Amino acid sequence: MNWIKHYIGGEFIESPKTLKNINPATKQLLGEIHQAGETEVNMAIEAAEQAFPFWSQLSFEQRSSYLNKMAHEIEKRLDDFAAAETKDTGKPISTSFSVDIPRSIKNLRFYANSLNYHKEAFYNSPDQAYNLTLSEPLGIVACISPWNLPLYLFTWKIAPALITGNTVIAKPSEMTPITAFMLSEICQKINLPPGVLNILHGKGDQIGKYLNTHPQIRAISFTGSTRVGKQIAKEASSNLTKVALEMGGKNATVIFNDCDIERACKEAVRAAFSNQGQICLCGSRILIQDEIYDKAIKIIVKETKKLKPGNPLEEKTNFGSLVSEAHFEKILDFLNYAKEKKYKILTGGEEIQVENCDGYFIPPTLIEDVPMECKLNQEEIFGPVATISSFTDDEDALNSINNSSYGLSCSLWSNNHQRNLKLAEAIETGMIWFNTWMHRDLRTTFGGLKNSGFNKEGLEDSFKFFTRTKNICFKY
Ligand code: NAD
Repeated sequence: MNWIKHYIGGEFIESPKTLKNINPATKQLLGEIHQAGETEVNMAIEAAEQAFPFWSQLSFEQRSSYLNKMAHEIEKRLDDFAAAETKDTGKPISTSFSVDIPRSIKNLRFYANSLNYHKEAFYNSPDQAYNLTLSEPLGIVACISPWNLPLYLFTWKIAPALITGNTVIAKPSEMTPITAFMLSEICQKINLPPGVLNILHGKGDQIGKYLNTHPQIRAISFTGSTRVGKQIAKEASSNLTKVALEMGGKNATVIFNDCDIERACKEAVRAAFSNQGQICLCGSRILIQDEIYDKAIKIIVKETKKLKPGNPLEEKTNFGSLVSEAHFEKILDFLNYAKEKKYKILTGGEEIQVENCDGYFIPPTLIEDVPMECKLNQEEIFGPVATISSFTDDEDALNSINNSSYGLSCSLWSNNHQRNLKLAEAIETGMIWFNTWMHRDLRTTFGGLKNSGFNKEGLEDSFKFFTRTKNICFKY
């Protein structure tokens, strides 16, 4: 049994109420999570406030050394972290081991070294004056993260917040708290100064109602659903607290006649179903140009069938369980709707039993010929369900890509880069890939448009978000 306690002021703190933490692949009880509320938020604010003067005045190199130590300690326990994440999320251990936990380490190391990439603004004005922009930490900031890539997204927020000299109150998802708790053990082990990073556990609304409106919180960096993001923005506006929102997506993978069809189709399947379709960037709408439609469908269905739900702890498993019972029920509702509407299900479509795992498994599902206005093409399902439709020409493709309230990402599969660039200018998403998917360079901007995001992440965006600036002008 794991007891997930808060980490406040360098100490592990309990609360009177707890929640159950369930392994979604087996329905077994993993442990109990302490539920933070007003008392714990206030304790965390006090600890973060006390730590701020010391932490903000450390040199960049000193703060950097703590981030590097965190990364080093996670790396030493890579196996433990991967196994813990797999039990918490139901994702295949191969994913945790080779993607999620290494990327968490990389996030910490990247920001530990980020001064190498960061640029300060300096202008030599024509009228014999220098202008210099000074960036300062904000104070206490909140970092709120979701369950789908628990430590990966958690570290992506706390690392820039800490390196820029802020003290942090972080809130991992109550669905997947274990790796954040393990990180708090590491913070204690490496003697991170108390109060620099405080981690609160439990249901978001119970914590959010005190955190989002607290006047001492200077910024909230949130990744999660559009519904909760909008609520946070509304509540935070009462104090003009800065918000960065990374939210949902309904992304298109667009396969043109002239692409490398085999490669495009394989990547379309990876884009649709990685992490059981539970990645904000997943390409859940596959659009195929009509000339190659039949051929592409065959490859896509064949590749999809290679993904077989299995015991997430077995190394050979390439497809895991959904994250929770509630999420599983939500996906089944979408599938029932597709059946009621008599849409053609090419593969998947029903829950599935996995040997020795009594959990929440649905195989990757492809649904054909769903109208673009249908909720299966408009709402974020965030699970192993993708639609497939055809298009005639560039204009038809563009209309479908942009026919969404979301605007996170899009991938175009075509060797005609002139066309790709022309389309990219008209596509309403924050990220556009040509002949690739989910390719990330941490120096570049990241985030969505429309209902997918507000204030981006990425090196310069995060430095800007987590600091306040002053302009100093001096005449010579
Ligand atoms: P969610 O919005 O339910 O929860 C996200 C976090 O917010 C959790 O830690 C939760 O406890 C907390 N929370 C809930 N209510 C809150 C409140 N009132 N105040 C403060 N915090 C609150 O999202 P989820 O179900 O955990 O994650 C799935 C969603 O995240 C999907 O919509 C997915 O697209 C999105 N996501 C987006 C990105 C991105 O970068 N754009 C990345 C990953 C996931």
